[in-house]
Amino acid sequence: MSRIVVLGGGESGVGSAVLAKVKGHDVFLSDMGKISEAYASVLDKWEIPYEQGKHTEELILNADEVIKSPGIPSTAPMVTKITEKGIRVISEIEFAGRYDSAKKVCITGSNGKTTTTSLVYHLLKQAGMNVGLGGNIGKSYALQVATENYDIYVLELSSFQLDNVYDFKADIAIITNITPDHLDRYDHNMENYVKAKFRITRNMSSEDCFIFCSDDEITIRHLDQIVLKAQKLPFTQKEEVAQGAFVKEDKMIVRYKENECDMYLQELALGGKHNVYNSMAAALAAKVMDIDNEAIRSGLATFQAVEHRLENVLSIKDVLYINDSKATNVDAAWYALECQTRPVVWIVGGTDKGNDYESLIPLAKEKVKAMICMGLDNRKFHDSFEGIVPEIHDVTSAKDAVKLAHEIAVSGDVVLLSPCCASFDLFKNYEDRGRQFKEAVRNL
Ligand code: ADP
Repeated sequence: MSRIVVLGGGESGVGSAVLAKVKGHDVFLSDMGKISEAYASVLDKWEIPYEQGKHTEELILNADEVIKSPGIPSTAPMVTKITEKGIRVISEIEFAGRYDSAKKVCITGSNGKTTTTSLVYHLLKQAGMNVGLGGNIGKSYALQVATENYDIYVLELSSFQLDNVYDFKADIAIITNITPDHLDRYDHNMENYVKAKFRITRNMSSEDCFIFCSDDEITIRHLDQIVLKAQKLPFTQKEEVAQGAFVKEDKMIVRYKENECDMYLQELALGGKHNVYNSMAAALAAKVMDIDNEAIRSGLATFQAVEHRLENVLSIKDVLYINDSKATNVDAAWYALECQTRPVVWIVGGTDKGNDYESLIPLAKEKVKAMICMGLDNRKFHDSFEGIVPEIHDVTSAKDAVKLAHEIAVSGDVVLLSPCCASFDLFKNYEDRGRQFKEAVRNL
């Protein structure tokens, strides 16, 4: 038995505390903020001592190990004290991995994590496997290791969740792509962010598989610099590959070992070039897991879009309203615009994460007839898009954005909420923003 202190009382922290308790450790959980009632009652139920609104040093600095929740930066004063004392800081994923012998398919990347993770899960589940879904999505991995008994896990891992992994090993790892995001947490250093993502490949052996986008320059550049024992399986829309997935004419083709699975792009449930990437990555993982071709095809054809990701809300007088609230960075919005075939009334805005809108200008020029900036500070949008987009307006609520979009759009247009920004200036989170948008559309 060792003393395990958990910092942070959200999904990840509470799951870790429960697992530590189940494994017989002396557990204590501490949160500087408020713990929600739902999580407090889980801690009570498992008889786990905790504190909120403070960090009591005497109860923390006597830990053998500290599990840090991903939302807490490593520069937080308490974390600094813990490391200065020589106490090992690990992540939930590292901790739970110690007690889990299931096969693990792990997905990270800047964009497309949730979609790809959900796709892989859907393919494995549909094929009848005893599979759990977790990590950054749904229930925490640690809680599931404590209370479930799955043969396989499909885990979405953010770079923050990967920051403190050491011995954890994935059997199949996917990096969807790497573009600048969250750089504030990585000393504004892209290299640090890339390295954090690549931690998903730690400890992999030649029996494991690494699935990656070979059209992504940042991924390729880093891959050239490291030694990776895992079998490398690229997916690409630019060339044919001997092993991996690629696009040929109107088909997606997956080649693994001696076997080949093909499928018409048109049959994919999820539209857009970015979802061709996500579907290829998921199909490759499924192929490595020995799922047969028919099951892969039918799974990719029947998958339902995840909420807030290019989600078609309603069509009103032939104006289609699309909720892509999860597009919280420039690259995600690029793909959302790229796949539009109709004139776009584009709703953007929110908390800027140091965005550079340059790459969006050609698409905006070609497709956007009006921009509606929904944020407290819209200057950067005006500076970047004035003279590019015919009209730019400012609003401060989803209701006003939708009302104005409804006035501007004519039959055959699309109203696209794909904001390029975080949502915290006007909304609780991106889900709240997406829901308010949908509600306003339904009330039109
Ligand atoms: P994540 O979990 O990494 O944030 P999601 O699957 O939730 O990714 O998608 C977030 C947004 O990113 C979506 O709204 C979509 O527009 C965009 N997106 C999805 N997949 C990709 C991809 N492979 N490349 C670039 N953008 C993508």
